[in-house]
Amino acid sequence: MSRYLIDRYQSLEAYVPGEQPRDMQYVKLNTNESPYPPAPGVVEAVQAEAGRLQLYSDPVCVELRDALAARYGVKRENVFVSNGSDDILNFAFMAFGGPRAYFPDISYGFYPVYAGLHGLEAHPIPLRQDFSIDPVDYMVLDGFIAIANPNAPTGMALEIGQIEDILRANPDHVVLIDEAYVDFGAESCVRLTAKYDNLLVVQTFSKSRSMAGARLGFAIANEGLIADLEKIKFSTNPYSINRMTLAAGLATLKADDVCTANCRRVVDTREVTVDRLRQMGFEVLPSKANFVFARHPHSGGGFLYRQLKARGVLVRHFDSPRIKDFLRITIGTPEQMDVLCAALKHILEAE
Ligand code: PMP
Repeated sequence: MSRYLIDRYQSLEAYVPGEQPRDMQYVKLNTNESPYPPAPGVVEAVQAEAGRLQLYSDPVCVELRDALAARYGVKRENVFVSNGSDDILNFAFMAFGGPRAYFPDISYGFYPVYAGLHGLEAHPIPLRQDFSIDPVDYMVLDGFIAIANPNAPTGMALEIGQIEDILRANPDHVVLIDEAYVDFGAESCVRLTAKYDNLLVVQTFSKSRSMAGARLGFAIANEGLIADLEKIKFSTNPYSINRMTLAAGLATLKADDVCTANCRRVVDTREVTVDRLRQMGFEVLPSKANFVFARHPHSGGGFLYRQLKARGVLVRHFDSPRIKDFLRITIGTPEQMDVLCAALKHILEAE
């Protein structure tokens, strides 16, 4: 840290992304990426666009917003796009947070970082003992609310009626529902945006649409909230989505059936993996996401994480009190999960 950093950022604790080691080829199950390549047509669309890099991208992103609007049954004015959903979460905390921000105590690690970045009072709300969110804890709060549905790293989802109760109980505050993982089996609350002007739904192309490296996220909401987000974007970086990512996003939406089929494969692999992990003695939380959160009664999370890494399998371990015994395991291809399960079996037998 230099002596020039302004006071309010000195105590800021930045988000730590999942590791991307380069020392060897790992079976990478630690950052919830899709194991499947981008949809057909995406590479060609990106290549075609690369020849036009001397020109700025469209700051209003008309074509992509129209395509998303058609896909989700809303209007262009209800759609916001930016550089990954992280970008949108940041804008939302900046625009709608304050002075307080509420979110589950075990959830996406970026929420407290954004709260700190924008000087908000962060109020983490404890999950129940079984790691579920209790909607009753979110009734009539005096600030901005962010909930990941399904939640991360648990994978557990709320039902849409429970989210509606939270929206109804907090009409004076924005409720952000982060649906980064919704395409893997939870119910989206996009349709509620027509009814509740305080609902901001955020989704991403990173997981279900195999585009993590392109950085593309979108939000759907009442047009007032979208106009607010546009204002923040145009006050920071209007060209936040580059030409190649815009082209990739459009091509991906044209092949939506391929993405849907890939999601189904991931869900099938998840169910098989959950069974296998349970047979090995793991407790696995009920996941509606492209990852599972699991702990073993005899082996700690840190130990298993290190042993797996030594065998070339990367998973995510969070060294915080309530969840230190868990591993968060991204669902990869069936072959990748075979490698994971074989490695776990060896590790547990050797103990
Ligand atoms: N929300 C949640 C709950 C996530 O786990 C992630 C992925 N790290 C994101 C948002 C951000 O995704 P992206 O910026 O790649 O769209």
